[in-house]
Amino acid sequence: MITRTISQLAAMAGAESSGYVADLLIRGVCTDTRNLTPGSLFVPIRGLRFNGHQYVKDALERGAVAALWAQGEPDRPDHPAIIEVEDTLAALQRLAKEYRRQLAVSVIGITGSNGKTSTKDLLAALLSTTFRTHKTNGNLNNHLGVPLTLLGMDEETEIAVIEMGMSAIGEIAALSAIAGPDAAVITSVSEVHLGDLGTRDRIVQAKLELVQGLRPGGLLAYCGDYPQLVEGIDRVGYRGKTVSYGVQPSNDLHPIHWRADDNGFAFVLDEQVPEKFASPIHGRHQMVNALGAIAVARHLGVPEQLIREGLYDATLSGMRNEVVRVGRYLILNDTYKSNPSSVRAALQTLYDFRKPRRKIALLGDMVELGEESEQLHRSIGAELDPERIDLVITVGASGAYIAEEAARRFPGDRVVACADKEEAIARLNKEELDDSLLLIKGSRVLQLERIIEALRNKE
Ligand code: ATP
Ligand code: MG
Repeated sequence: MITRTISQLAAMAGAESSGYVADLLIRGVCTDTRNLTPGSLFVPIRGLRFNGHQYVKDALERGAVAALWAQGEPDRPDHPAIIEVEDTLAALQRLAKEYRRQLAVSVIGITGSNGKTSTKDLLAALLSTTFRTHKTNGNLNNHLGVPLTLLGMDEETEIAVIEMGMSAIGEIAALSAIAGPDAAVITSVSEVHLGDLGTRDRIVQAKLELVQGLRPGGLLAYCGDYPQLVEGIDRVGYRGKTVSYGVQPSNDLHPIHWRADDNGFAFVLDEQVPEKFASPIHGRHQMVNALGAIAVARHLGVPEQLIREGLYDATLSGMRNEVVRVGRYLILNDTYKSNPSSVRAALQTLYDFRKPRRKIALLGDMVELGEESEQLHRSIGAELDPERIDLVITVGASGAYIAEEAARRFPGDRVVACADKEEAIARLNKEELDDSLLLIKGSRVLQLERIIEALRNKE
């Protein structure tokens, strides 16, 4: 993590750098007193519900050695290590930007509608075979998370893999300007935040803002399986090196032979090199994320054999396509987030499993889809394959549209619409689940992971 004296930090944050009583050494930066590290700089942020300035005194008493303070905020504590700035969030971002530029680090920025965290974890696993690698912790991918991730780098970090998320136009441009990536990865485009952004073109446009901060000659890797993304990149006319990846043969990097099933995925990239790239992670979409990670790892010179080893050992953050055994059946836990493209990816994963006797798809509402929400739910329902799913259970009011469409092609007793998760649990309790594979997919707010807890407790 960042280690600087108070006067150095103040200068980096754009504040008055002289006049401090002692030139204290500060290690680390935090914005939340719940995870304060002793010796750090506390940065109060003014949010919608809380004003961090209320916690400055507490932070200083509990181990922070200095704090930022926005000019004009009332009740400034009488403390010798307060750094006054105009705006604390802007100062935090400036500090991160400056720190990134002081280090001899290569930064990889990752954005996309789905697959950012997965690709980040996969790429960091490949890179850490060869470089001192730092990555975004969990999902800290916003205007606070990105600067905090950069400030978390040690001085010797060689490569930082930074996830960048957004919900509005302009946000990725701002994050990209802070992080100054040497390589950019765009994992996918889907109707995530369609409600906020309005159109699919604007979704593509928002992702492509990542390119604006790319350093001259930097690599742009993108999943070429999304035609809209390919068109968007053509429009931008990026002049540096680009590499497209995906399952389709039109991509620069694509597998020649591949499989994705109960055992994870495996593929060959070159007819002349029979050694496989393999992983126990489930889902062909995760294989695509792995291709993106390989494109960047190769660009940075990671040896092929270490890429294979890193890929095999890589693990993902929880609740993303996680297969868990409960008693005598399996659950495909994908309760983290839900939107049309990630539902399709989860269904494909369900279809790709060979062994289970029965397959059950439990699908909850997808959120933040705006005016098209009903139609998008109906499309998912219409696509469900009665040959490959034995029972469909939907949860929630929008989920009911999925059920309504599915019921047109599935026999009546194979589609059940539940109002909430409690009803779904009661329904599942009546099912003989042994030797089944149960996909549970829904947006985070629905807390469908509670269904898994209930099923586990029953065993
Ligand atoms: P968030 O916006 O919440 O940070 P994210 O972009 O980081 O999400 P992940 O956390 O990696 O994405 O995955 C979220 C969901 O999308 C999971 O259900 C995962 O299985 C699915 N997913 C991951 N990669 C892809 C992909 N390339 N295409 C479609 N779905 C994907
Ligand atoms: Mg994420």
